[in-house]
Amino acid sequence: MQQGNIFVISAPSGAGKSSLVTELCKQDNNISVSISHTTRKMRIGEAEGINYYFTDVVTFEKMIKNSELLEYAKVYDNYYGTSATKIKELTSAGKDIILEIDWQGARQVKKLFPESTLIFILPPSLEILSQRLHGRNTDSVETINSRMNLALDEISHAPEFDYIVVNDLFNQALSELQNIINSQKNLTKNMLNQFKQRFFKGN
Ligand code: 5GP
Repeated sequence: MQQGNIFVISAPSGAGKSSLVTELCKQDNNISVSISHTTRKMRIGEAEGINYYFTDVVTFEKMIKNSELLEYAKVYDNYYGTSATKIKELTSAGKDIILEIDWQGARQVKKLFPESTLIFILPPSLEILSQRLHGRNTDSVETINSRMNLALDEISHAPEFDYIVVNDLFNQALSELQNIINSQKNLTKNMLNQFKQRFFKGN
């Protein structure tokens, strides 16, 4: 069985990453998004097991100690991490998986899986990012200001990624992401299994 591909998608808060990922998954049945564990509080409109598995610090630190996490990081004073079991299960079944994580996690994943594809989503400008953060209305002004500073920090890591997509026009950014994902699937090493079975049955 051909292993599924791992795609890491990172972006500063407000770049529109989640909407793009939701649409990507809707249009591609073989791709699913990993649900992270976090110690941050649930926001209005979020649900357990849909956006995150919400957990407390003690439980999270136990997961770290028991090596249950593929990667983890502290972002905005909260822990975020990806459970290893689910990722292994899905990729072994040939499913492609998207990890929506920060640059620290992206680095860890690339180290563990050098064949993974790292994609960074940029907003068209910092002015537009700031407008988008203010328009969200779910966080306080202090939170928005601190997220703006952290956005600059996150953006400074974009050069470490394999691809950069600018989310100015949603549909264009979506199609650029689809192109990246499809070209990864078409890499010769990823096509080889099917190709061999179809054309060289005796070998
Ligand atoms: P938010 O609290 O806005 O949902 O996410 C804050 C940041 O944490 C985002 O940059 C998001 O990509 C990152 N994040 C979410 N889940 C994970 C994870 O499992 N691991 C890491 N390293 N970062 C994550």
